[in-house]
Amino acid sequence: MRGMMMDRPLRVADILTYSEEIHGTAGIVSSTVEGDIHRESYAEMAARCRRLAKALRTMGIGPGDRVATLAWNGYRHMELYFGIPGIGAVCHTLNPRMSPEQLAYIVSHADDRVVFLDLTFVPLVEKLRSRLPDRLRYVILADAASMPRTSLANVHCYEELLASEDDDFGWPDFDEDTAAGLCYTSGTTGVPKGALYTHRSLVLHSLIVGVSMQNSLRAGRRLLPVVPLFHANAWGAAHAAPLTGTSLIMPGPGLDGPSLWNLMETEKVFAAWGVPTVWLGLLEEIGKRGRKPAGLEEVVIGGAAAATSLIKGFEDLGVSVCHAWGMTEMSPIGTLGFLSPEQTSLPARERLRLKSTQGRRAFMIDLKVVDGEGRRQPNDGEATGELFVRGPTVVSAYFNNEEASAAAFDGEGWFSTGDVASISSDGFLNIRDRSKDLIKSGGEWISSLDVENLAMAHPHVANCAVIALPHPKWGERPVLVAVPSVDRPEPDGIRAYLEERLPKWQVPDDIILVEELPLTATGKVSKLTLRQIYADHKLP
Ligand code: AMP
Repeated sequence: MRGMMMDRPLRVADILTYSEEIHGTAGIVSSTVEGDIHRESYAEMAARCRRLAKALRTMGIGPGDRVATLAWNGYRHMELYFGIPGIGAVCHTLNPRMSPEQLAYIVSHADDRVVFLDLTFVPLVEKLRSRLPDRLRYVILADAASMPRTSLANVHCYEELLASEDDDFGWPDFDEDTAAGLCYTSGTTGVPKGALYTHRSLVLHSLIVGVSMQNSLRAGRRLLPVVPLFHANAWGAAHAAPLTGTSLIMPGPGLDGPSLWNLMETEKVFAAWGVPTVWLGLLEEIGKRGRKPAGLEEVVIGGAAAATSLIKGFEDLGVSVCHAWGMTEMSPIGTLGFLSPEQTSLPARERLRLKSTQGRRAFMIDLKVVDGEGRRQPNDGEATGELFVRGPTVVSAYFNNEEASAAAFDGEGWFSTGDVASISSDGFLNIRDRSKDLIKSGGEWISSLDVENLAMAHPHVANCAVIALPHPKWGERPVLVAVPSVDRPEPDGIRAYLEERLPKWQVPDDIILVEELPLTATGKVSKLTLRQIYADHKLP
């Protein structure tokens, strides 16, 4: 028997309208590329989104058209997040840290009609111009007074476009499976692949994130997403913050420790979300100043494994850490490291151990671990294999890429994450490695993440990565590439430290000290680049 409830579509614009009516006085504080602090309430944002919707239509943008953004975290980028899908077009976020080749490929592959870009990215696009389609139009996210001289053709000024329309506009209805957002993976292997989110998946994801992150997200809270809007919906902050009445403190391009510390302090930020490399910078700044920014209570760390020492660094300051795992293909939240009420009273060591895992699944996300033959493994915390996921916020295929789509799912339709993991009996996910980053030495696997986690606890290691290098006898051997935290540390001291704590055969054959580690477009340590740099390195 069918139920008898109304079949109303889930639409991204409903978040905006709700936010305007219910949380109209909360809003966005933006540290802008022009250098000032801009404040906008969600009520003001909603009105500007309606103007934007009309302006897009005037430009000839309609349902299904891809409209790209190339921008930092700020209020205008948020307006694009709602105004573009609101009329049935697709908001395609471009990641400015990708290589020029990747960006040119992505814009063509997505068949973008317009690019909305921050002032800072005008030189980047000018350089790319010859590789981009001629008909592409550009809207610079600035007012008339700040418009730059540019060699680009077909250029518009964002504030002039908005000023030429009024805000008398009603959001149209369409099927909830209509495409709303597009984000390409950072493409560490092969060409970047597009995850095409729907209105339904984004609304469900906002609800999932809102329910799961109740500490960061609730009316009156102030959240600083260091995680960019240009990657995977800023982990859901873009939609869940207006939905819950949480104000967003947007850092613009200032993502270094001192800039973040200052913004957090002056804007009374309660929670902040970002990748481990960003938090290493903030902890260093906190160390210099001798205290955390006033009011900072929660940090969400994800996108790459958070070392236990990093988690401890924050918890010792009284800042609660949630270690989260996800993927662009999952909108992106998959698991979250919150402890149950019983677990919060466990001894500190045990709590830290649980928080160092990637946490437990979010609502509507199913996880399974399978061995090399595709057999499902028990959730016993021991059995390790490839992690597969399923849920209404997980991609069902890649955008216009049949080959990648065919390879990404198993016979039951689960998505293959490429991560190697175990799951404990109480549901804690432990990511051991990316399958391609695992080290196979003498037929046995070594988890690079385990070795990195240990090395990070050494007082002279500020950051590190463990990679596999070819070895004539063992096949592969681990090598530790580390950024020291002091002048001239002793690699032998670090080695002795690891020897005390690891089985002998897992201790890296070599320890290479470097000034900095190469990062991917999403701010994670790029092991692919490291493997290329050290491809010819001679092991001792
Ligand atoms: P992306 O789609 O660029 O966000 O990358 C997703 C990948 O990042 C995952 O498949 C993992 O390999 C890695 N990742 C994300 N979060 C974590 C985490 N908390 N711990 C370990 N790896 C992570």
